[in-house]
Amino acid sequence: MEIFGVGGLGTKLKVKGYFDFNATAPAFPAAVEEMNRCLAGEWYNPSGLYHAGGRVRRHLEEAREVLAERLGVGEPSRLVFTSGATESNNHVMHHVAAEAGENALWVSEIEHPSLLEPAGRSWGSEPVRLRTDANGMVCLEDFRARLERERPALVSVMAANNETGVLQPWREIRDLCRERGIAFHCDAAQWIGKLNARDFGLCDWLTGSAHKFGGLKGTGFLVVPAGTVRLYGGLCGGPQERGLRAGTENFPGVAAMLTALEQAANLAGERGALASRRDQFERAVAAEIPGLKICGAGAPRLWNTTMMVMPAHRNLKWLTRLSHLGFSLSTGSACSSGAGHSSHVLEAMGIEAGERDRALRISGGWQTSEADWRDLARALQEVYADLNSSDHAKRRRRSIRLDKPNPFPTGTGPGT
Ligand code: PLP
Repeated sequence: MEIFGVGGLGTKLKVKGYFDFNATAPAFPAAVEEMNRCLAGEWYNPSGLYHAGGRVRRHLEEAREVLAERLGVGEPSRLVFTSGATESNNHVMHHVAAEAGENALWVSEIEHPSLLEPAGRSWGSEPVRLRTDANGMVCLEDFRARLERERPALVSVMAANNETGVLQPWREIRDLCRERGIAFHCDAAQWIGKLNARDFGLCDWLTGSAHKFGGLKGTGFLVVPAGTVRLYGGLCGGPQERGLRAGTENFPGVAAMLTALEQAANLAGERGALASRRDQFERAVAAEIPGLKICGAGAPRLWNTTMMVMPAHRNLKWLTRLSHLGFSLSTGSACSSGAGHSSHVLEAMGIEAGERDRALRISGGWQTSEADWRDLARALQEVYADLNSSDHAKRRRRSIRLDKPNPFPTGTGPGT
């Protein structure tokens, strides 16, 4: 798998062995081209009171209309361009917390940290965590039952989980909220670009991020309820985005985001084939590595993601060895991998701590070929054999040491 970026330097961007698309995807060459085109000619400040500034302003508003149409958002003024999903999630939490009074916030327990952390900080009380089942799907029945008794200020449930790829019942939850006039937020950072996004317009709040679908890092959006005139706790100090977000708009980034979305949409017909490559990979690995567990296998999932609990050896050992072989994987969300936290998502699914430390998240992309998945399956088998044999050698060395006569019989050695 090789993608050729057409940056100004004509550099080749190699993504062979890259299986961390849920952390970030390489930019589509057409998106890079579009960004470069805008940086060359449409780099003016859209707030500039001269011809070129006005032209960029018009392009920006056209982009807003196109994106609104793609997301099924009837009113383009509901769209605010942001720096990505972290910023958008923070805005929602801070804004709604400021307006909620004593009313509670309900969030699923598998939300991304960029939502859970600001939720915890900005809300006066701990958010209510909506339970998930063993497949990592928010329990609709629990949610319905809770709605009979209580009325939250906001419900926030993601569209697709970034670690397991499990698709959430966000449409059903959104409709239940709408029937009762309860605000609903959906973090769709992992869904948009990978699956059809036209249904999101009925969400009151919606989060998206360009670099997850082949746009640039540092570009994203937030859909706000119609008629919102300010965002409490948001960026202030400028009238941009109709006073909803201060800061010069990143038009080249926005244009690249739209191009990326279009590229991803053009590949929609491939989704079935892409999913069957991932499924074939899972079957191949499971056949060679007995005892392997696939998280969320009983639920509908994104076509690109598999979260595997390996039967033995800590995930960091797997990652290091795979990295030496040229493969890039992760242990969970990029934000927590390497930070010594085990996955709160797997914990919510009832997966034990020991197993969580053996979890590998593998996420391919539009460009991942059958051969790429096959190479990774082979590499996993190789690493498994290698880890087992080095464990075996360690055990042998230990038993040889134990076989030696003990120079300090019980009660006579130092420190006894
Ligand atoms: N929400 C979800 C579901 C994500 O997967 C991520 C990134 O991993 C984020 C939010 C944060 O995205 P960004 O990098 O655009 O801030």
